[in-house]
Amino acid sequence: MDGSTTPTTAPVLILLGPPGAGKGTQARMLEEQFGLVQLSTGDLLRAAVAAGTDAGEQAKAVMEAGDLVSDDIVIAILRDRLADADCAKGVILDGFPRTTVQAKALDMLLAESGQKIDAAVSLDVDDAAMVDRISGRFTCGGCGEGYHDTYKAPKVAGQCDKCQGTDFKRRADDNAKTVAARLDAYHAQTAPLIAFYDAQGALARVDAMGAIDEIATTLGDIVRRATA
Ligand SMILES: [Zn+2]
Repeated sequence: MDGSTTPTTAPVLILLGPPGAGKGTQARMLEEQFGLVQLSTGDLLRAAVAAGTDAGEQAKAVMEAGDLVSDDIVIAILRDRLADADCAKGVILDGFPRTTVQAKALDMLLAESGQKIDAAVSLDVDDAAMVDRISGRFTCGGCGEGYHDTYKAPKVAGQCDKCQGTDFKRRADDNAKTVAARLDAYHAQTAPLIAFYDAQGALARVDAMGAIDEIATTLGDIVRRATA
C-alpha cells in the first residue's frame, strides 16, 4: 500500500471504441456527470515527463531513445496518477490496456488498492455504416463548416451554405479504404481484450450508432451499477 486515499467504491471504467465511435464525447459527458477523470495514455506520459516523477524520467529516457515505453513504466505512471485526489470519484481509462498482458498488469495494480475494473465498455459500431459516415465528410475551406455527402450536403451543390465559398476540403485519410482498414485493425487489436473482460464478467456492450444522449444514458446506468 502506498497511502492512496482512493476509496474502493470509485469506479474504474475502460472505454473501448474505434475512431469515430464518439469515445471522446462520451468520456467528457461522464466526467461532467459523475466527476470521473479520463486518463489517456498519451496525456499521462506527457504529464509524468513534465512533472519529472521517477517513472516520468524513465519514460522520457526511453522516448528520447526512440523506443516504446514499457508496460512497467506505464503501470508505474498510472499508479502515481490513480493516487491523486481528483481520481477519488473514479476514472475512465482510454488507450490502456491495449493487450491482455497489460490488462493483467492493470488488474494487479488495481488490486493493490482494493479496486478492480468495474466495466470495460465496448462502444460497438456498425462497420459499414461507420465507413459511410466517416468517408463522406468534408469541410468548407473558407469557414470550416462541416458537411457530409449523404447526411449533410450543401443546399446548393458545390457551394457552402454559410459563406457561399466553393472551396471544399476532404481529409486524405477519411477515404473509405482507410476507414475500413482502421476498423479492421481496431477489431484485431481489441478482440483479445473483449474476450478477457467478457470472461471476467466486466464487459458491457453499448450500441454506439444511436443518438449521443441515448448512449450517454446507457453509460450512466453502467457507472451507477458500478458504484452501487
Ligand atoms: Zn463556408
